[in-house]
Amino acid sequence: MGLNEKQQQLLRMLPGVDMILEQTRTASVCETVPKSVLIRSIREVLESFRAEILGGAGVTADRLSGDGVAEAVRKRVAGAMAFRLRRVVNATGVVVHTNLGRSLLADDALENIRAIAGHYSNLEFDLETGRRGLRYSSIEDILCEITGAEAAMAVNNNAGAVLLCLDTLARGKVAIVSRGELVEIGGSFRIPDVMARSGACMKEVGTTNRTHLRDYEGALDADTGLMLKVHTSNYSVVGFTASVSIRDLSALGEKHGIPVMEDLGSGTFIDLSKYGMAKDPTVQESVAAGADVITFSGDKLLGGPQAGIILGKKAVLDRIKKNPMTRALRIDKMTLAALESTLRLYRDPERAVREIPTLRMLTAPLPEIERKAFLMAERLRGLASERLFVTLTDVASRVGGGALPLQELPSKGVAVRIEGLSPNALERRMRAHLPPVIGRIEEDRFTMDFRTVDEDELDIIEAAFADMLQEDI
Ligand SMILES: *Cc1c(COP(=O)(O)O)cnc(C)c1O
Repeated sequence: MGLNEKQQQLLRMLPGVDMILEQTRTASVCETVPKSVLIRSIREVLESFRAEILGGAGVTADRLSGDGVAEAVRKRVAGAMAFRLRRVVNATGVVVHTNLGRSLLADDALENIRAIAGHYSNLEFDLETGRRGLRYSSIEDILCEITGAEAAMAVNNNAGAVLLCLDTLARGKVAIVSRGELVEIGGSFRIPDVMARSGACMKEVGTTNRTHLRDYEGALDADTGLMLKVHTSNYSVVGFTASVSIRDLSALGEKHGIPVMEDLGSGTFIDLSKYGMAKDPTVQESVAAGADVITFSGDKLLGGPQAGIILGKKAVLDRIKKNPMTRALRIDKMTLAALESTLRLYRDPERAVREIPTLRMLTAPLPEIERKAFLMAERLRGLASERLFVTLTDVASRVGGGALPLQELPSKGVAVRIEGLSPNALERRMRAHLPPVIGRIEEDRFTMDFRTVDEDELDIIEAAFADMLQEDI
């Protein structure tokens, strides 16, 4: 079908690339933009106008004026220049939010990353002998000091740690695990699959709800390489249940000369029940109970960088350190710098709770959260829009990261409704703001939980609402 006269006329109005280039060259936003980005943006804008015209969409001549096109180019350039991995405001109240980057690092850790990454370091250099050193030495002593373990190391993440341990201790052998502990965590990490990848043959014992020591004992034979206990961190089996403690399992392993491993998932050094949360086993307890090897994440409840920490008996760790797979899973120097700084904070547990953001947010007193929510509500009311309805509300934060799944932390939030805008549209607008503000929809209102919002971020949220109300919606 041929084009109608109106379409032909509009197509003729579209300026050429060179002309727009000339126009935008002087615009301040485009001054620092690489020419390649500018030209690509101009082409894309022209292409989208052309597609709109050909598609019969009602493009007005006004939008094709020099200013109209320049404005479209400016927006496109801003999009092209913005980082893809960008900071967001987490107003979801989920503290260890895996999709939003899990743990925030303490200031000490951030400073140490800068110092180590910007200079040469003794990463694999022994300053005493002047010879090659081990990558893990910077964190091994402090991990042993905090937990009481004999030896320690760290790899890329806990999934890698579990894989490495299984590969070292159970490849070509049988690994025994309770049917109640065959967990799947997000991102397709499932115990049976990891087991298969490591070359270990999995032998399930017990039932979904009850596993006894005699079940493990009955399964032991000459092929057994390992007994594995997995902390069921993201679900809870309640009712008529029984499981074997790491202490009893370790004693059984010792009696038969079979190593016992515990995947703690979200290992913690601090007993959070002191702060009114459910009791999760600490790493120290697991070490004291006699587990041969323990693995956990660096960036869940620990509040450090992404890492998989492996610690336990020296003889077992020596074998793991020698596995060639460690090279493929090795931890980066920036991570090591952040991890060492974070671990050092645990020498004084009260300081750890004050300075490690994950712990600070989890233990934040309610009045402190309420104060931020109150300030936010006042600021939003200060925008004096008749379309904006703001309410302070009670909300429940979550720990996240698959830890303490049933734990609800009482918190304070602000719920917002904007007349003429659906809650979904409002949520989308907040997400499109730079920086994005991520909240959730509760009872048909966009709701923000202030446990995970820093006081400095109130400005960002206020600006996001101000911009939205200003745009014609
Ligand atoms: C989170 C978790 C893992 C994986 O840890 P990552 O650090 O995310 O790789 C493994 N096992 C359990 C039980 C977990 O909770």
